Amino acid sequence: MPAPVTSPALSGARDAGARDAGAGRLPDGSTAPYVGRFAPAPSGPLHFGSAVTALASWLRARQSGGTWLVRIEDLDTVRSVPGAADGILASLRRLGLEPDGEVVWQSRRAAVYREALHRMEALARTYPCACSRREVGGERYPGTCRRGVAASRKAVSRRLDVSGRRLTVTDTLLGSLTQDLEAEVGDFVVQRGDGLIAYHLAVVVDDALQGVTEIVRGADIWPATPRQVELQRTLDLPTPAYLHVPVAVGRDGRKLSKQNAAPAIDAFPPGQVLHDALTFLGLTPETPPTATVTDLLAEARARWTLAALRQTLSGAPTEQQARSQADPAAGDHHLPTRAAPGPYADHPIPAGGRPGG
Ligand SMILES: [Zn+2]
Repeated sequence: MPAPVTSPALSGARDAGARDAGAGRLPDGSTAPYVGRFAPAPSGPLHFGSAVTALASWLRARQSGGTWLVRIEDLDTVRSVPGAADGILASLRRLGLEPDGEVVWQSRRAAVYREALHRMEALARTYPCACSRREVGGERYPGTCRRGVAASRKAVSRRLDVSGRRLTVTDTLLGSLTQDLEAEVGDFVVQRGDGLIAYHLAVVVDDALQGVTEIVRGADIWPATPRQVELQRTLDLPTPAYLHVPVAVGRDGRKLSKQNAAPAIDAFPPGQVLHDALTFLGLTPETPPTATVTDLLAEARARWTLAALRQTLSGAPTEQQARSQADPAAGDHHLPTRAAPGPYADHPIPAGGRPGG
């Protein structure tokens, strides 16, 4: 017996966090008040790249007179490091970035995601797949199990059927991106072999339930945006505006992360971090790094503009940079990157060393 196709959770009612913050579409259908969010994965401490993204999304929300939410993306229990989420929240507070409303934890929302899965099953858009990760490799999934899983094999994951799906997504900063999902990505996983909901589906469901109107995040996710928009359309959820900010890269040319040992932001004075993050985002603050975070943020709210951020893109990334950042399933895209200031990009990967993940 399939689960009901609609339920209050996915058809209008929102989470307590968003309700408390007064977010939502207005009854007369006019544009909802701005709701932004920062959604870190707790795989390690906050580093410079995440601080930049958090600051950009906070600034957009504050300049729009809107709401800024924080969501901890701790669905992947293997990658989540105990205590990292609390550390990230403390680091944000230290930078003066306080969320409006309660922090949402993805690990506590399994029922909501299951409902979204059931909804797609009822629409006959998903199918079980018996192919292991190794069998598919890093390649486009060719649709092997679309017409059923061989009797000798056991289904391990569920995929979304994207046959004939070609869509164009737009970003306020980067313009538009057209992707033929079937040809470039292939049917993608919505429920993993270990039973966990796939990242892209959880993100889409949460953004809709939290009433997010603009997603500000790192440009490394830009090539995956068509997949997320396809999920929104399948689930009849609204598509928010997108603003992908340049990715801060380390000396190895890769996104700062735990894998390339990007230092924790807490190792630096918060005013210095804000000053450097604002400079990264195209604003040269007049307020010195020794000032309080309150003063630095006040100047940023008054003076930071998208035009300033756009100017940082004029130094287009080299093709090699773009390739090293691109999602292999999405082909080559010129993703904007900027080198993180030296101290935040320490500890290069030793020659011959392989970044994990
Ligand atoms: Zn398969």
